Amino acid sequence: MASVASVGFLSLLGTSAFSSPQKPAVSSEKLSATQSLADLKAGNQRYSSGHPQHPHEGVKRLQDTALYGQHPKAVVLGCADSRVSPELLFDQGVGDIFDVRVAGNVANKDELASMEYAVGHLHTPLIVVLGHSKCGAVTAVASGEYLPGPNLNSLAVHITDAVNAVKKTKPELKGDPLVAASIEANVQESLEDIYQGSEALRSAIDKKEVLLVGAVYDLKTGHIHWLPAYTPKAK
Ligand SMILES: [Zn+2]
Repeated sequence: MASVASVGFLSLLGTSAFSSPQKPAVSSEKLSATQSLADLKAGNQRYSSGHPQHPHEGVKRLQDTALYGQHPKAVVLGCADSRVSPELLFDQGVGDIFDVRVAGNVANKDELASMEYAVGHLHTPLIVVLGHSKCGAVTAVASGEYLPGPNLNSLAVHITDAVNAVKKTKPELKGDPLVAASIEANVQESLEDIYQGSEALRSAIDKKEVLLVGAVYDLKTGHIHWLPAYTPKAK
């Protein structure tokens, strides 16, 4: 997907495939998707058990990543919620995670474009869609709260699809159980939206160049519940 038109975009994001000198391998450059996923799982284990290592911080790391570019091991499409910071909860550092954060971890056009950049130009091998407990965006939709204005309405479209799917398959759920089921369904919705909404990402997933995984973070414990890796629905 590299093209002449993309060069400006590369510069805009502060790195360029054309400007990297002989670079020393920064730690995540050669990781496979499986290794990256294992690394995130181990990092969350450290974080949630109260033993984070805070890797890849400090002046040397800043200098290396500024000079030689970024090679993030994962894209995390997560919620903008202030309690769900990927670098913290995965115990990662500078240059490790390509963050795409938006209320409700939805995959609209701008989010898809950001992920396409990470996969196409930075060769990031793993995409994680990270929902979380007590998500305000999902709770608002699930409880039928009025969301004023076209921007919030646009954000709520995909969340509404997820909530409606839960209401259809499990009509008995109300209140907190409905919200919890909707949060996981909303992660599944974003996985599907990534696959269906981006030709570039779909191609990379089909070729197994990229692994797509969903997860739900528990605000109270710091634990992550991992969902099975995404597999396209049978046609
Ligand atoms: Zn949220």
